[in-house]
Amino acid sequence: MTKIFNFSAGPAVLPREVLQQAADEMLDWHGSGMSVMEMSHRGPEFISIHKQAVADLRELLAIPSNYKILFQQGGGLGQNAVIPLNLAGRRPQPATIDYIHTGSWSGKSIKEGARYARVNVAASSEANGFTSVPPQESWKLSKDAAYLHICTNETIDGVEYDFAPAIDPDVPLVADMSSHILSRNIDVSKYGVIFAGAQKNIGPAGLTLVIVRDDLLDHALPACPSAFHWKTVAEHDSMFNTPPTYAIYIAGLVFAWLKKQGGIAAMEQRNIEKARLLYQALDADDFYSNRVAPAYRSRMNVPFYLRDESLNEKFLAGAKARGLLQLKGHKSVGGMRASIYNAMPIEGVQALVDYLNEFAGR
Ligand SMILES: *Cc1c(COP(=O)(O)O)cnc(C)c1O
Repeated sequence: MTKIFNFSAGPAVLPREVLQQAADEMLDWHGSGMSVMEMSHRGPEFISIHKQAVADLRELLAIPSNYKILFQQGGGLGQNAVIPLNLAGRRPQPATIDYIHTGSWSGKSIKEGARYARVNVAASSEANGFTSVPPQESWKLSKDAAYLHICTNETIDGVEYDFAPAIDPDVPLVADMSSHILSRNIDVSKYGVIFAGAQKNIGPAGLTLVIVRDDLLDHALPACPSAFHWKTVAEHDSMFNTPPTYAIYIAGLVFAWLKKQGGIAAMEQRNIEKARLLYQALDADDFYSNRVAPAYRSRMNVPFYLRDESLNEKFLAGAKARGLLQLKGHKSVGGMRASIYNAMPIEGVQALVDYLNEFAGR
């Protein structure tokens, strides 16, 4: 097989060992004679897979016992509706939701939230082209918001929070961590709800992780679908309806892999080093540029531009010839983007850096 490095933003690279184990277990999981895909979600085999995945994730992120871990479907964009449906009922109607607008994904959340509640964009970095997180002192938060929504890593714009905002304890902080969950230490207790589509840093598409504090489970609007009502989902241990069983299994293998790598603290050190290598190559001269303010540069998603954009196609073709795949930037912003999630080995980043230097004629 040809050796490649996959820089896709998502669905994205998975650890090789995980894929190998899944291949080995594909036809017969642990002597059960069944593939995980064929198992009843209520049978003892799958229940044990599910339980282990939840326990490993709880350990990895040190998730306190007053938080539920829910495995849902519908993706990050689905949660943009599921969250207001579950939390807008905390306040008299119509409730207000506060948002911080830091790029494409928080922008989508704002649009969707407006279908269910009043929306207050408390701060925005649109004026500087989404190249920073507005300082917390500038946020114009509502007095009685149902919650505050932030996107802690903007996958398209390459902007990452370097802090967990401290706000009024009566206003839950909701964070879209789709593209950087498990990449760095977080203090879960600072958040009311954390959610993430799996296909960036957890596992296959089709699984959506929701971590929610117990007191927030039961404030849904009457229109909230039962299958997305957190209290109902939590009471059924994420099995009110059939969960995405195979995706949960792979996510569980990824969690076990992360533990073997030394956990989140070890991953964070590797991610810091990978990001340092890559940004250093981009900053070496003005052949390439990344426009994000250094303090907010994402460790996971690194968008960049060639000074001479007429070379874009040549750059991508040369990269592909070296096995460096999926480096084309998101269509809304153009340029290039290298996503360097947990499963991207440092050798992959080094190979990209070597190519960047070579292409720039250094
Ligand atoms: C990918 C992504 C989403 C969307 O996830 P879907 O699973 O496609 O709905 C939402 N938020 C962020 C930050 C993302 O990176």
